[in-house]
Amino acid sequence: MAGPLPWQEAPWRRLMERKAAGRFPHALLIAGPAGIGKGAFVAALAGALLCEDSDGAACGRCAGCRQLAGGAHPDYSLWEPEEDAVTLKIHQIREMNQTIFLTRSRGPYKVCVVNPADAMTPAAADSLLKTLEEPPPLTVLLLVSHRTSQLSATIRSRCQVVRLAPCYGEPAIGWLGSQGMDTAAATSLLGITGGTPLRALALAGEGAMEEGGRVAAEVRDLCRGAADPATVAQRWCKAGLEVVLPWLQGAVQDAIRELFDPSGASLRGGTGEGGSGRLSLGHDLTLLFDIDSRLNRLGEALAKRHSLSPNSLAEQIAIPLYRAGDRSG
Ligand SMILES: [Zn+2]
Repeated sequence: MAGPLPWQEAPWRRLMERKAAGRFPHALLIAGPAGIGKGAFVAALAGALLCEDSDGAACGRCAGCRQLAGGAHPDYSLWEPEEDAVTLKIHQIREMNQTIFLTRSRGPYKVCVVNPADAMTPAAADSLLKTLEEPPPLTVLLLVSHRTSQLSATIRSRCQVVRLAPCYGEPAIGWLGSQGMDTAAATSLLGITGGTPLRALALAGEGAMEEGGRVAAEVRDLCRGAADPATVAQRWCKAGLEVVLPWLQGAVQDAIRELFDPSGASLRGGTGEGGSGRLSLGHDLTLLFDIDSRLNRLGEALAKRHSLSPNSLAEQIAIPLYRAGDRSG
């Protein structure tokens, strides 16, 4: 059943051509931002490699497909950090190597998925490197990572890198539409999530569109001097920073873009509801860049599950926005 997601067609086609020619790479590094669908792509690839009855996407009916769907395919293994661990340890990669060198039980391929590959400890990565240097025939290693810079250059150089690119327009908008999202919401959410449709879909489920309108209004009010930074920061924390932060980033980036391109041909078409696109931020570009990089750092802190207090949010973002406002006219 499962082929790739619609915006992944081009890399998928290239790989299927190589499979048809009997030249499928022995190791792929599937890269791309979180929320682009690397998991779905890898699942589709594993399905295609293990299907016994199809040249393209898995047929979903043959014995190989049924075993894979049932989680019991002898030629498929998934390696990820064990429960409560953040790293992939050497004993896991050693076990994987053993699995690889055991006789294949079904064919045509043996597939091992390492996800996320950047979670490997240095010792685990060394152990994997040996397998990458002398790969057994008809074995495919699928490494998954959205932080490929954290992988060693030797590992990267021994893999064929497949970069899943962000998608801001079709077919991501069409796919989000099939999930019940209207075009305007899809466009906005793809904008604030950096073109990652799965992240856009998740945010929509968290009431992100409504939040977008609210955040845009608050940023405008801050810049007009019509809102209290501490109160606004408090509300942001209460509403959930994982939803608020992308809208804030969008608003600030829009303002920066507007300064570079006053004709207003914003790439993303405004932030939030109600035509709130243009924000009356002042012309202090340095301050805007500063706020933007602070927002990035806050995003990274959030991703590492650090909590943020309303006070620090006020100090770092709301007060600078209040100061950035151009109230001269
Ligand atoms: Zn099949």
